Amino acid sequence: MAEEPSVTLDLDYDKIEYATNRELENDEGESTGFAKVASYDMEMFMYVIKCPYCGHEFKDEEELGSRPWWISCPNCDRSSNIYRIKDKAEKEIKETPDNVDV
Ligand SMILES: [Zn+2]
Repeated sequence: MAEEPSVTLDLDYDKIEYATNRELENDEGESTGFAKVASYDMEMFMYVIKCPYCGHEFKDEEELGSRPWWISCPNCDRSSNIYRIKDKAEKEIKETPDNVDV
């Protein structure tokens, strides 16, 4: 049962510098919303938000400064914190301890 999102971003994925897609949680910690944020130049960001509090979906674009970003829902006026997902995997080379003395 794939639901078509009612609001989508029209993006040129070849030019995107940054994109994130994360779930937003309501007060109960349930993932009832989402945030899709993308940027071509790391200055102007386009986003689609589904408000986790009221379910309202909206899209907009604005210049977002330093993180964390707070984007408020135009319907219920509550803000969601859009923090950045680590897009660089921090690779830790873990050596397998093969000489473990117990
Ligand atoms: Zn809302």
